[in-house]
Amino acid sequence: MDDNIKRAAEDIVEAGNKKVVALTGAGMSVDSGIPPFRGKGGLWEEFDPEVYAHIVTFKQDPAKSWKMLKDLIGLITRAEPNAGHFGLAELEKIGFLSCIITQNIDGLHQRAGSREVIEFHGNNRWLVCLDCEKRYEVSEVFPLKEVPPICDKCGGNKLKPDAVFFGEMIPPENLSRSNREAVNCKLMLAVGTSAVVYPAAGMPEIAKRNGAKIIEINPEKTPLTSSISDYIIEGSAGEIMPEIVKGVRQLSKQKIN
Ligand code: NAD
Ligand code: ZN
Repeated sequence: MDDNIKRAAEDIVEAGNKKVVALTGAGMSVDSGIPPFRGKGGLWEEFDPEVYAHIVTFKQDPAKSWKMLKDLIGLITRAEPNAGHFGLAELEKIGFLSCIITQNIDGLHQRAGSREVIEFHGNNRWLVCLDCEKRYEVSEVFPLKEVPPICDKCGGNKLKPDAVFFGEMIPPENLSRSNREAVNCKLMLAVGTSAVVYPAAGMPEIAKRNGAKIIEINPEKTPLTSSISDYIIEGSAGEIMPEIVKGVRQLSKQKIN
């Protein structure tokens, strides 16, 4: 076992019961086939997210945003959780993980069995009409087309996913619960996040200031690596997470015996 994987398993066991929080980002779902914002390939080469997923674009020209949303929602609907998601779900089941703060809007943590998930940026399961506030489950507007779906209550064309777009506020309850978890944890795993989108990217800083260890899991270094993280395990979430959980299981068995 890689030395840092072993070290992470030891640190998790040392942190103890429900004292670990995971902050996850788009990299978590790369092994499920959903491309991250930064990095090559896929959807975002065609659609700049800061334009197509900006609230001003959506309000002024919903048809423009829906060109991207059709592809994104399609991709998310077809995706399956990967070994990284299952690893975090298991870490919760065996008592170490307090919660996941996820920046992802794909719902894959819950589908892998995680229960305590703060969807910091909301999700894509629901659509809300910006004109009359009627809510739709996304499956109700299938099949998706490039033109925006029409609200059957008010006839408007502004059905917006219940995800936080650029230019929108983070729901205050998400922010306050995440802050609380960051303050109370003894260890934070930052998995697959480039840690540049605030305020989510500030959670490791808050945890660190309150005495927690920070472990990054990412194939590439991030702004956290040299400033906040205690160490980084360089690799994909789908490969590394199951190894860490295996280590945790072994160590906690040894402790009991
Ligand atoms: P990001 O796109 O900025 O960064 C992705 C990070 O993941 C990078 O640091 C990259 O090195 C790393 N990475 C790539 N492959 C990986 C792998 N296999 N395992 C682990 N790490 C890997 O993502 P971000 O920090 O989450 O911030 C961007 C915003 O994008 C978030 O707010 C999120 O809401 C949104 N987003 C979500 C999804 C999704 O729901 N799956 C997809 C794209 C973007
Ligand atoms: Zn409406």
